Amino acid sequence: MAPAFDEALRRYAELAIKIGLNLQPGQRLIISDPRRAGVPLEIAPLVRHLVEYAYKAGAPLVDVIWRDDALQRLRFQHAPHDSFEEWPVAQPKGLLEHFERGGALLSIHAANPDLLTDQDAGRIALVQKTAFAQYLPTSDFTSRNLVQWCVIAASYAGWAKKVFPTLPPAEAETKLWQALFRVCRADLPDPIAAWKEHVRQLVARSDYLNHKRYRHLHYTGPGTDLTLGLPPDHLWNAAQSKTPKGIAFTANLPTEEIFTLPHAAQADGHIAASRPLNYGDTLIDGFEVKFAGGRAVEAHARSGETVLRKMLEADEGGARLGEVALVPHSSPISQSGVMFYNTLLDENCASHLAFGRAYKFCMRGGESMTDETFVAAGGNHSILHVDFMVGSGEMNIDGIASDGTTEAIMRKGEWAFKV
Ligand code: ZN
Ligand code: ZN
Repeated sequence: MAPAFDEALRRYAELAIKIGLNLQPGQRLIISDPRRAGVPLEIAPLVRHLVEYAYKAGAPLVDVIWRDDALQRLRFQHAPHDSFEEWPVAQPKGLLEHFERGGALLSIHAANPDLLTDQDAGRIALVQKTAFAQYLPTSDFTSRNLVQWCVIAASYAGWAKKVFPTLPPAEAETKLWQALFRVCRADLPDPIAAWKEHVRQLVARSDYLNHKRYRHLHYTGPGTDLTLGLPPDHLWNAAQSKTPKGIAFTANLPTEEIFTLPHAAQADGHIAASRPLNYGDTLIDGFEVKFAGGRAVEAHARSGETVLRKMLEADEGGARLGEVALVPHSSPISQSGVMFYNTLLDENCASHLAFGRAYKFCMRGGESMTDETFVAAGGNHSILHVDFMVGSGEMNIDGIASDGTTEAIMRKGEWAFKV
């Protein structure tokens, strides 16, 4: 392994433990990808650095859950047809007890999207559904930030091939690592200091917008003239989360967005997507959507239009918006120009909106509301949550206060206010 590469890998691991988890002395750590029942053996060089930093931070025990993707293929080839709701008994129980005892979780995305493409789609869906059901009790700990948790990504053969299809496999894998290091600022001279400043800015910008309490956002740019309402009790969120004990952590590495929810009944005008949307393995490209009274009333796409329309028809909330997120055009992911085919990374590449479900924590008191109360207050309810990119170097966004005053939030894709 080249020394420069290993050094970058080490810094990446250090970021995950110190900035991502902010692991505390005496706190146990599990390293896994729970819904895939572990992390692949191939990423051991990264995992060893992570384990080293975790022990140096004072962890009494680091528990790594390994998997081997070849075993998953063997299951699909030879296990009984009706056995795909089986799940390792120990893992969900172990994770739940770990959380109850205050342990932290580092989840690493390293998956081959083509591992099972020749296998039965119904069984694949059943395994996914089973994973979600098995981890329902533990997802309460992460969605409510009761303990520190963090998601990072690791370059992995099949995934790298999808991102860089024209390169030989080994080169693609290295190139994906380099892209991850760059977008996570691990290639800077002092990544920890860079992240502290980045997080400070994100939090300060969301505080600024929370203080402003704009009633509307107005988007203008090529193919775009859209006005969104914001519910009176909307809350902007950014990078940093806090556990009930007050330990600050960063649940996603990288993270670039500041986000809240739009009013589900207040979107009027039209908007052009600035990047293709990968939905259920269909690429929806060159699309524009017209909104009236919060609903998408027209949708056109250069390719994938049928899938786009079907998606919007998923349910009542599918054609309405549930997220508005701001990301400057100069962010490292945007500048990398790489399509990662992974939400953790692609969602952070540009300002975006999402069709479908809004997060209840984006509304004051939202987490204790029933679905009906939440919808009545302007939230959106849907089985969908599909982000699509609208930001570019030509997008302007204004905030409109309740007295009609208009202030610049973004100009040509960059922040128009200082923090
Ligand atoms: Zn987002
Ligand atoms: Zn989203």
